[in-house]
Amino acid sequence: MKTTYNMLNQKIKEQGYRMTKQRAIVLEELAKSKDHPRADEIYHLVRQRLPKISFGTVYRNLKTLKDLGLIQELNYGKKFSRFDANLEPHHHFVCLRCGKVYDVNPQPADKMCQKVAENIGFEVASFRLEFYGYCNAQERKAAEAEMNN
Ligand code: MN
Repeated sequence: MKTTYNMLNQKIKEQGYRMTKQRAIVLEELAKSKDHPRADEIYHLVRQRLPKISFGTVYRNLKTLKDLGLIQELNYGKKFSRFDANLEPHHHFVCLRCGKVYDVNPQPADKMCQKVAENIGFEVASFRLEFYGYCNAQERKAAEAEMNN
Protein backbone atom coordinates (compact mmCIF):
# COMPACT_ATOMS: atom_id res chain seq x y z
CA MET A 1 0.00 0.00 0.00
CA LYS A 2 2.88 2.33 0.94
CA THR A 3 4.61 1.59 -2.36
CA THR A 4 1.43 2.27 -4.31
CA TYR A 5 1.01 5.56 -2.50
CA ASN A 6 4.62 6.61 -3.23
CA MET A 7 4.19 5.63 -6.85
CA LEU A 8 1.02 7.69 -7.08
CA ASN A 9 2.77 10.63 -5.44
CA GLN A 10 5.59 10.40 -7.94
CA LYS A 11 3.19 10.20 -10.87
CA ILE A 12 1.27 13.23 -9.64
CA LYS A 13 4.46 15.28 -9.09
CA GLU A 14 5.75 14.45 -12.55
CA GLN A 15 2.64 16.05 -13.97
CA GLY A 16 3.05 19.16 -11.90
CA TYR A 17 0.43 18.41 -9.23
CA ARG A 18 0.60 17.71 -5.52
CA MET A 19 -1.07 14.85 -3.68
CA THR A 20 -3.12 16.89 -1.27
CA LYS A 21 -4.80 15.26 1.71
CA GLN A 22 -8.19 15.91 0.13
CA ARG A 23 -7.13 14.37 -3.16
CA ALA A 24 -5.69 11.32 -1.38
CA ILE A 25 -8.93 10.77 0.57
CA VAL A 26 -11.10 11.14 -2.54
CA LEU A 27 -8.94 8.54 -4.24
CA GLU A 28 -8.96 6.24 -1.20
CA GLU A 29 -12.73 6.33 -0.81
CA LEU A 30 -13.24 5.65 -4.50
CA ALA A 31 -10.73 2.79 -4.44
CA LYS A 32 -12.56 1.24 -1.46
CA SER A 33 -15.98 1.27 -3.11
CA LYS A 34 -16.74 -1.43 -5.59
CA ASP A 35 -20.00 0.00 -6.93
CA HIS A 36 -18.81 2.80 -9.23
CA PRO A 37 -20.21 5.70 -7.20
CA ARG A 38 -21.45 9.01 -8.60
CA ALA A 39 -19.73 12.25 -7.57
CA ASP A 40 -22.44 12.97 -4.97
CA GLU A 41 -22.01 9.52 -3.44
CA ILE A 42 -18.23 10.03 -3.24
CA TYR A 43 -18.87 13.41 -1.64
CA HIS A 44 -20.94 11.74 1.11
CA LEU A 45 -18.19 9.17 1.75
CA VAL A 46 -15.44 11.80 1.85
CA ARG A 47 -17.46 14.11 4.11
CA GLN A 48 -17.46 11.47 6.84
CA ARG A 49 -13.69 11.97 7.03
CA LEU A 50 -13.44 15.64 6.03
CA PRO A 51 -16.67 17.20 7.33
CA LYS A 52 -15.88 20.67 5.95
CA ILE A 53 -15.16 19.65 2.37
CA SER A 54 -17.51 21.01 -0.29
CA PHE A 55 -19.06 19.14 -3.17
CA GLY A 56 -17.19 21.42 -5.58
CA THR A 57 -13.83 20.47 -4.09
CA VAL A 58 -14.63 16.76 -4.31
CA TYR A 59 -15.82 17.21 -7.89
CA ARG A 60 -12.70 19.16 -8.91
CA ASN A 61 -10.47 16.53 -7.31
CA LEU A 62 -12.28 13.79 -9.23
CA LYS A 63 -11.68 15.70 -12.47
CA THR A 64 -7.98 16.18 -11.63
CA LEU A 65 -7.53 12.50 -10.71
CA LYS A 66 -9.16 11.62 -14.00
CA ASP A 67 -6.93 14.02 -15.96
CA LEU A 68 -3.93 12.45 -14.23
CA GLY A 69 -5.08 9.03 -15.39
CA LEU A 70 -5.54 7.71 -11.86
CA ILE A 71 -9.26 7.00 -12.12
CA GLN A 72 -11.79 6.42 -14.89
CA GLU A 73 -14.94 8.37 -15.51
CA LEU A 74 -17.83 6.32 -16.85
CA ASN A 75 -20.03 8.78 -18.63
CA TYR A 76 -23.76 8.05 -18.70
CA GLY A 77 -25.09 10.90 -20.79
CA LYS A 78 -25.61 14.44 -19.58
CA LYS A 79 -27.14 13.56 -16.25
CA PHE A 80 -24.24 12.02 -14.35
CA SER A 81 -21.02 10.07 -14.43
CA ARG A 82 -19.83 7.24 -12.28
CA PHE A 83 -16.23 6.83 -11.22
CA ASP A 84 -13.97 3.81 -11.10
CA ALA A 85 -10.52 3.52 -9.51
CA ASN A 86 -9.96 0.19 -11.24
CA LEU A 87 -7.74 0.96 -14.23
CA GLU A 88 -7.29 -2.64 -15.32
CA PRO A 89 -9.13 -3.38 -18.57
CA HIS A 90 -12.55 -4.60 -17.55
CA HIS A 91 -16.19 -4.35 -18.53
CA HIS A 92 -19.43 -3.39 -16.90
CA PHE A 93 -22.96 -4.54 -16.37
CA VAL A 94 -25.43 -1.65 -16.08
CA CYS A 95 -28.80 -2.14 -14.41
CA LEU A 96 -31.51 -0.50 -16.51
CA ARG A 97 -33.74 -0.19 -13.47
CA CYS A 98 -31.56 1.17 -10.67
CA GLY A 99 -28.55 2.41 -12.68
CA LYS A 100 -26.03 0.48 -10.57
CA VAL A 101 -22.86 -0.59 -12.36
CA TYR A 102 -21.10 -3.88 -11.68
CA ASP A 103 -17.75 -5.20 -12.90
CA VAL A 104 -18.05 -8.09 -15.33
CA ASN A 105 -15.91 -11.19 -14.94
CA PRO A 106 -14.47 -12.95 -16.83
CA GLN A 107 -13.18 -10.60 -19.51
CA PRO A 108 -14.95 -11.66 -22.69
CA ALA A 109 -13.50 -9.20 -25.16
CA ASP A 110 -9.75 -9.80 -25.50
CA LYS A 111 -10.06 -11.81 -28.72
CA MET A 112 -12.81 -9.54 -30.04
CA CYS A 113 -10.53 -6.50 -29.75
CA GLN A 114 -7.85 -8.23 -31.81
CA LYS A 115 -10.43 -9.27 -34.42
CA VAL A 116 -11.74 -5.71 -34.74
CA ALA A 117 -8.20 -4.37 -35.19
CA GLU A 118 -7.52 -6.93 -37.90
CA ASN A 119 -10.81 -6.26 -39.60
CA ILE A 120 -10.62 -2.47 -39.66
CA GLY A 121 -6.87 -2.35 -40.20
CA PHE A 122 -6.36 0.30 -37.54
CA GLU A 123 -4.76 0.12 -34.17
CA VAL A 124 -7.35 -0.21 -31.39
CA ALA A 125 -6.22 1.94 -28.46
CA SER A 126 -9.13 1.28 -26.14
CA PHE A 127 -12.73 0.22 -26.10
CA ARG A 128 -15.71 0.23 -23.82
CA LEU A 129 -18.04 -2.72 -23.54
CA GLU A 130 -21.21 -2.66 -21.49
CA PHE A 131 -23.89 -5.18 -20.77
CA TYR A 132 -27.37 -4.00 -19.91
CA GLY A 133 -29.95 -5.83 -17.88
CA TYR A 134 -31.65 -5.94 -14.52
CA CYS A 135 -29.86 -6.53 -11.26
CA ASN A 136 -31.81 -8.12 -8.45
CA ALA A 137 -30.94 -5.49 -5.83
CA GLN A 138 -34.46 -4.04 -5.93
CA GLU A 139 -36.14 -7.44 -5.84
CA ARG A 140 -34.03 -8.38 -2.85
CA LYS A 141 -35.05 -5.16 -1.10
CA ALA A 142 -38.72 -5.80 -1.86
CA ALA A 143 -38.47 -9.39 -0.60
CA GLU A 144 -36.81 -8.22 2.62
CA ALA A 145 -39.47 -5.54 3.15
CA GLU A 146 -42.18 -8.16 2.68
CA MET A 147 -40.54 -10.48 5.19
CA ASN A 148 -40.41 -7.68 7.75
CA ASN A 149 -44.10 -6.92 7.37
MN1 MN B 1 -15.39 -1.11 -12.91
